[in-house]
Amino acid sequence: MTSPIQGLAAHAAGAELLPYRYDPGKLGPQEVEIGISHCGICHSDLHLIANDWGLSQYPFIPGHEVIGTVTGLGADVLSLKVGQRVGLGWQSNSCGQCEWCTRGMENLCPVMEGTCLHRNGGYADRVRANARFVIPVPDALPSEQAAPLLCGGITVYTPLRTHGVNPSSRVGVVGIGGLGHIAIQFARVFGAEVTAFSTSAAKEEEARGLGATHFVNSRETKAMREVAGSLDFILSTANADQDWSLYIQALRPTGTLCVVGVPPSPMEIPAFPLIAGVRSVTGSPIGSPYQLREMLDVAARHSVRAMTETFPMAKANEAIEKVKKNKVRYRAVLAN
Ligand code: NAP
Ligand code: ZN
Repeated sequence: MTSPIQGLAAHAAGAELLPYRYDPGKLGPQEVEIGISHCGICHSDLHLIANDWGLSQYPFIPGHEVIGTVTGLGADVLSLKVGQRVGLGWQSNSCGQCEWCTRGMENLCPVMEGTCLHRNGGYADRVRANARFVIPVPDALPSEQAAPLLCGGITVYTPLRTHGVNPSSRVGVVGIGGLGHIAIQFARVFGAEVTAFSTSAAKEEEARGLGATHFVNSRETKAMREVAGSLDFILSTANADQDWSLYIQALRPTGTLCVVGVPPSPMEIPAFPLIAGVRSVTGSPIGSPYQLREMLDVAARHSVRAMTETFPMAKANEAIEKVKKNKVRYRAVLAN
């Protein structure tokens, strides 16, 4: 007999979260059940609550930046122990058979399963996932500051690594929120010189404290024009439409604009600077289990920590409102 899981669910697009209980059924042989201590509030949760992407099914329990301890192990799971501290991010399973899974790029699996996509997520007391996606957390990382790394952290870590950011790189980070404030830190760990682009002038001091050498108020067109041709790699974490031509202009020849934040509209990109300077535009989704392990290890050894504001799980609606208003510095985390 399994006991019901108690969570908080939206029952319609954009609705407030209400207590919601469900029966998780029998634990599958390759599944792990996690007793949740902390769950970060990623902006993707807000997109899903609002059904911005047309993917949401209700009732919907958000949450995919989970830290907790193993409370149940499926019969075939040998890699984890009951009581062990673990993390779970956006992805909870993949087919395990396709080209991408066998290449260790499970985040590109065409049938990947999301922790809170068509399943019940981490704004709850417990959550389940396939054991391959349940990642041990290094002792040096406090749970509250580690939770945001499971989605926000890996989403910025992977493209910085994939695109070979190094001490010669000049990196721009657009949007200094949950993802952006972690991106500044990882880019610094990789040795890059970092420029923070923000609509919030009040974030300048903290952005510099996190490792940015330059700060550009992205609402000022003049300031944006001044950085033309200065950056090798720009990572955009903003969840809003931008004048993308200004960011393309900010790239040096052969530079790359990589989008991880999800703007509502199709992006308008001028062709000439791409052609003349061999500049490119790309995107990146989360990271694989292997990259999650590596990212947590790098964060532990190089003191990368999310700056967090904690809310009791029962105050999730209050925390969500604060995220919507861009008032959280820099990641809201729900605690049980
Ligand atoms: P967040 O904490 O709310 O931060 C987003 C930041 O974007 C804000 O702090 C703000 O920074 C900036 N911003 C907000 N409104 C803006 C506007 N009108 N113009 C320009 N910038 C604006 O959100 P998050 O959790 O970091 O998530 C950011 C985005 O990444 C979301 O769209 C989310 O769905 C997406 N995401 C993608 C992946 C992936 O795998 N690709 C994974 C996780 C999240 P400033 O105040 O500095 O301007
Ligand atoms: Zn996320």
